[in-house]
Amino acid sequence: MVFESVRKTLEEVAEIEDLDKKEEELLLSFERINKGKIELNGKKYSAFRIVHNDALGPGKGGIRFHPEVSEEETRSLAFWMSIKNSLAGIPYGGAKGGVKINPKKLNEEELEQLSRKYVMLFHKDLGKDKDVPAPDVYTNPKVMGWMLDEFERLKCRHEPGMITAKPDVLGGLSFRKSSTGLGGYIILRELSKKENLKNTKIAVQGFGNVGYHFSRFAFNNSYDIVAVSDSSGGVYDPEGLDISKIKETKEETGSVVNHEGKEITNKELLELDVDILVPAAIENQITEENMDDIKANHVLELANGPTTNKADDRLYQRGIMVIPDILANAGGVMGSYYEWVQNKVGGAFEPSYLKKRFKSKIEENFQRVYEFQQKKDIKMRNAAYILAIRRILKAEKARGHL
Ligand code: NAD
Repeated sequence: MVFESVRKTLEEVAEIEDLDKKEEELLLSFERINKGKIELNGKKYSAFRIVHNDALGPGKGGIRFHPEVSEEETRSLAFWMSIKNSLAGIPYGGAKGGVKINPKKLNEEELEQLSRKYVMLFHKDLGKDKDVPAPDVYTNPKVMGWMLDEFERLKCRHEPGMITAKPDVLGGLSFRKSSTGLGGYIILRELSKKENLKNTKIAVQGFGNVGYHFSRFAFNNSYDIVAVSDSSGGVYDPEGLDISKIKETKEETGSVVNHEGKEITNKELLELDVDILVPAAIENQITEENMDDIKANHVLELANGPTTNKADDRLYQRGIMVIPDILANAGGVMGSYYEWVQNKVGGAFEPSYLKKRFKSKIEENFQRVYEFQQKKDIKMRNAAYILAIRRILKAEKARGHL
């Protein structure tokens, strides 16, 4: 994903909102770009931690360990986090980090060394009130636990709120692991009410953390998940799949394709005649190549960046409603927010209380964007961007920066 695509959406929004040059320049500028090299087994790997904007609060965003990590990608992802966090109405700016490395080639000891060295490199600019990381592609709660430990060792004090999605025993939130899928399901429920959807048939691409939890919540609440997939392919049953059984198959055999039902490719899954298509795997799945073959009436983007700019425009022309990633998958950062709040006050909340707050906040955000989009008659992605950008600019003005 290139920064050009961020620039293009911003241009569209700037025109609708009549933003002036100074506002546009501010939105395209970065608060902090930290980069360096991490040495592991005699080799050096590029590492980044970038804060896009922090007018609303400390930077917030994941750390990715992946061979494709670059400064440009990290900048785009940091920008996206500013938009997502602002839209979610939480007191965070946007940040992202990463190391250009293939973690699948590392053993456990090397992965721990990498995680600790990342914190040694950037710890001066991390912290609960400065910049708060979380997991992203190929990082997980275990990595967060090592990073927290390294940070606290360097600072000689406890500070659990410096990182989120850490193990529960270190101050993690019990429902953070399923919060992106849960948030997506709450949006599905609200969308069904608004659009009067009944007997909804859903296809889910990706059966990892997000895709599985989303499918589980939807299945348990009587939605028909007719197809799911992973990187090896997918399975389809027009009568609906039993998600708990699919999970068993995935755990026993390594892939959902081994489950009974018609075997389909990921390409076929995206083009199924369903009511809702849920990309929950990787970016760039709905593109110029297949944008005219999508048959779903709604696309609920749980993955980050699954639809390219051109395809997004085309789906809009074709009357297909896309619920954009920055709204649809914000359950993840919302879960992180409640974990952080709990860490700041010393863990005094009941999980049921936090879950209730979480649900009402997701519902409220969806309603706001949906209504604004209907009123303005624009793409839902642009509606979400406008609301998010307005809040960032308001904070910048209040600080006297504009
Ligand atoms: P994951 O690694 O747990 O799962 C990814 C799934 O996608 C796996 O089932 C994998 O087999 C499948 N997959 C990979 N390549 C594929 C391909 N080419 N075609 C079809 N399936 C493929 O990752 P995750 O945490 O579930 O994240 C999924 C997406 O959601 C990513 O875009 C991520 O950035 C986004 N996201 C995740 C969270 C979170 O809290 N985990 C929050 C916000 C957004």
